[in-house]
Amino acid sequence: MAGLRTLALAFLPPLDHTSDFEAVCREVAEAGITRIVLQEICGSINLTASDAGPRVARVLRETGLQAIACHGLEHKPFLLRQADPDARRRMVDAQLDLMERAAALGARTFVLHLGNYPDGAEPSAAWEPVARALDLLAPRAAAAGIELALENSFRCTYLARNAAELAAFVASYAHPAVGVCLDSGHAHILDGAVAALEALRPHIVTMHLHDNDGRQDLHLMPGQGTLDWADFMPHIASCPRLRHLETEALKPRLGGTLDEIEPIPPLGEIHACYRALLNAQVPA
Ligand SMILES: [Zn+2]
Repeated sequence: MAGLRTLALAFLPPLDHTSDFEAVCREVAEAGITRIVLQEICGSINLTASDAGPRVARVLRETGLQAIACHGLEHKPFLLRQADPDARRRMVDAQLDLMERAAALGARTFVLHLGNYPDGAEPSAAWEPVARALDLLAPRAAAAGIELALENSFRCTYLARNAAELAAFVASYAHPAVGVCLDSGHAHILDGAVAALEALRPHIVTMHLHDNDGRQDLHLMPGQGTLDWADFMPHIASCPRLRHLETEALKPRLGGTLDEIEPIPPLGEIHACYRALLNAQVPA
């Protein structure tokens, strides 16, 4: 079983649509960070643009950063549960385009949000559109060498309504390119971080590590909220499919900007906070 020191940590760079991606990546590299998470908004470069691949590749090459993880499209038309077949096809095509571009840049996991649980629906009806979307996404993910990571939610009105429901779906879908992203902050609000990890353990391929007050999805640095990290972290290393970890503190809300979350601590300080968290869990 992999020890925590061998698990790569991918850093989510603080970016909004006005940021200079290259300048931020240089700062990230200067802070001693070597791996990052890609997302749609790579600052002023939109990763869905057809010319984005070579532009991002050049920045990665020149800064020496590796982009090992990518967050899929998050806006409502791109949530995985699309009941309408035409809307689903458009969503799948857009996610595939981004996923394959990210895979070519080095990403090995691709996180997907599922949407809301439909009012009054039976679980089989609620999950059916997700399965049909994955029928199209999973083979292409496998071919691209990337794993899809369905993220756990923080509200019982979302799909999945809890960690056990997500675990049951992923177990029954049973495709090697379909796993789970365990979001620690979401789990802290809904199921409890350790309880969610235990329920999802066989399926977790990546994790979003951030903190909150147990009520709001605040995306704080570990230790700034009420999540018991000393209790949670030792459970991580034994997740059999876990590829790497991701930081997800200081993430602007969807469509928001970084000034809403200022002051942003120096990148070196954020990185040191996460490194300390990981290193503290390795026996001397
Ligand atoms: Zn997350």
